[in-house]
Amino acid sequence: MRPGASFDVLVVGSGAAGLAAAVSATRSGARVGLATKTTLQACNSAKAQGGIQASFGQDDSPEIHAEDVMRSSHDTADPRLVEVLTSEAPSAIHWLEELGVQFTRSNGGYRLARCGGATRQRLLQVGDRTGHAITKALRESCQAGGVAELSHHTLRALAPSDGGWLASFETRDGPVDVETATVVLAAGGRCFAEAETRGELSTNHPNATGEVTRVALDAGAEARDLDALQYHPNGGAWPATMQGYSIPETTRAYGAVLRNADGEEFTDSLGARDAVSTAIVAEVEKGKGVLTPDGRPAVWLDTTRIAPEDAEISLPYMLRRFRGAGIDPLSEPIYTYPVLHYQNGGLVIDEHGETTLGGLFACGEIAGGTHGRNRMMGNSLLECAVFGRRAGAAAAVQAGA
Ligand SMILES: Cc1cc2nc3c(=O)[nH]c(=O)nc-3n(C[C@H](O)[C@H](O)[C@H](O)COP(=O)(O)OP(=O)(O)OC[C@H]3O[C@@H](n4cnc5c(N)ncnc54)[C@H](O)[C@@H]3O)c2cc1C
Repeated sequence: MRPGASFDVLVVGSGAAGLAAAVSATRSGARVGLATKTTLQACNSAKAQGGIQASFGQDDSPEIHAEDVMRSSHDTADPRLVEVLTSEAPSAIHWLEELGVQFTRSNGGYRLARCGGATRQRLLQVGDRTGHAITKALRESCQAGGVAELSHHTLRALAPSDGGWLASFETRDGPVDVETATVVLAAGGRCFAEAETRGELSTNHPNATGEVTRVALDAGAEARDLDALQYHPNGGAWPATMQGYSIPETTRAYGAVLRNADGEEFTDSLGARDAVSTAIVAEVEKGKGVLTPDGRPAVWLDTTRIAPEDAEISLPYMLRRFRGAGIDPLSEPIYTYPVLHYQNGGLVIDEHGETTLGGLFACGEIAGGTHGRNRMMGNSLLECAVFGRRAGAAAAVQAGA
């Protein structure tokens, strides 16, 4: 085993959570290493389209946002984490703006949409490439701040050591050990691997395989709700090139509705994710679904109701993808069916992102509790920013930086 570099804070994973933690730890004065399985760009976060929640509306507040989260989670979320998430959302948005993210604006304020399970318009967007914009700004900040990049480093094991933690990686040049005072795990969820096992479609990046959760459990960390996986209600079902694509939930925020084979609306299209997914599956089971040209079950998402000017501002990427595949969603409804999307549960953390093991932090999709057993759309990118920032700062302090 080759000894690698040593750090105050070692972050594992280069999605929005890991990047936010690395920026925040560096700004707190720590020497930071950012290890990631393949390239810095490879992650689920960059694929996120719809947006990020924060209560900026006149009729909204962090308390109302928190109530929506608790209700959508069926009261299974950890209220302490939810309070942090929603109360720090506005400042997390300003932090991202300071780093260079330009959220879409209209009428002098943010362009806010209402997403599934929300009682207010609260979803900020950067067109429909919100995750791309956020990860790009965070990555540039990491690179400008001198974070040491350890790409093609796959975490295989973690063990306590005299100076904190010893992290063992597989690299293209063989195994490497890295010494670090503290660790921030931000390696995301496991829905790509889970979908492969189930023989289903997934919206996830192939690096979403979940082995880092297993590494943490083997080291003695605790987890919660690991069995609670989320289906995105609107997976693309046809054409074949769009299968597994997550049709942004903002299609429904801007007026699209779900219809069965008879053209009837059969559910509240802006309900919580689990309710909408369940309703679609039930409609198909009742024989009221439709079949795609290649014989897959589906219902209609009637996107013809979206105003062209809304689509141009908030759904340009989705329109380009479908039109490129020969279908214009503004002229005809599109086939949709739920698709495996998100790991709701994960490692148990406190308000600073620390797991049940001292000096071992976790943030983003790998952590559990913030969403309970059913996440609302737009709260995952928010969780990455809020808890990534917190975990990075707390890890730096504990490392003595
Ligand atoms: C298509 C799609 C659309 C989405 N849309 C939205 C949206 O609009 N709004 C919203 O809030 N959320 C959305 N989500 C969810 C959200 O994007 C993700 O849940 C969130 O970004 C996860 O961020 P993360 O940093 O925790 O993990 P990821 O972004 O998945 O990053 C994990 C990182 O860990 C690395 N990694 C994995 N295993 C290892 C290992 N063994 N060693 C080292 N590195 C490892 C990966 O390579 C990757 O860099 C969407 C998700 C998808 C897939």
